[in-house]
Amino acid sequence: MTRPRKEPSPQERLKNWLSILGPDALIPHTPPPLTASPMASTRDVLQPFSKKNKEQILQAISERVKKCRACGLYASRKQVVLSDGSPDADIFFIGEAPGAQEDHQGIPFVGPAGQLLTRIIEQGIKIPRNETFIANILKCRPPGNRRPLPEEIQSCSPFLLEQIRCVSPKILIALGATAARFFLKTQAPMRSLRGRVHQVLGLPLIVTWHPSYLLRRPEAKVETWRDIQLAMKVLEKRNGNKGARAE
Ligand code: SF4
Repeated sequence: MTRPRKEPSPQERLKNWLSILGPDALIPHTPPPLTASPMASTRDVLQPFSKKNKEQILQAISERVKKCRACGLYASRKQVVLSDGSPDADIFFIGEAPGAQEDHQGIPFVGPAGQLLTRIIEQGIKIPRNETFIANILKCRPPGNRRPLPEEIQSCSPFLLEQIRCVSPKILIALGATAARFFLKTQAPMRSLRGRVHQVLGLPLIVTWHPSYLLRRPEAKVETWRDIQLAMKVLEKRNGNKGARAE
């Protein structure tokens, strides 16, 4: 008779994970495939990890990012910009890259666009910003806030994917075209990507406007409002109709 295979304990899995993410890990990495897989969703893989375990994993990622020179942006950064929020968040926002204020403070979305994002979260979703998780595709600021180059996205995005796997959220929200196109591997216009639920990494993904765009075009805020409502409906469904707070 074959004995059932012994599952590794959460501690053993954490040890394995940290050894994979260790400071000697090679950069750049090959990003894992961005395919929907109900059999191996990020939540299934990491569910046993406690908040403390996740903090350790995020710290390990942070140490590697601080040493990273995988693209030319390391030369002009004041500091790296990792993330903001809770490792136990259900909602994971993804932006493009740090701007000047983020580069100065080391926290994503702290300038005027960040303040707008905070209002979207706190007035639209009705939870404190620090109960979500916020990160960018790039961890270093592109000079003059230019758009990230494809090779910079390729070099840096594995860190984001590791953050997503660690946090294991219930929904991803892509802020702006760069984040949306990264996940969906398309050059389609934003208007055709918004307003529906995509699936990536075994998770639902909602696309909405970047807060910087909303500062330039306030009339688009109503569309972001609809996107957030859609995200809340998806989250409510995943939570078994408990926990949606958007109105
Ligand atoms: S942007 Fe990303 S890949 Fe480039 S140096 Fe910074 S951390 Fe490394």
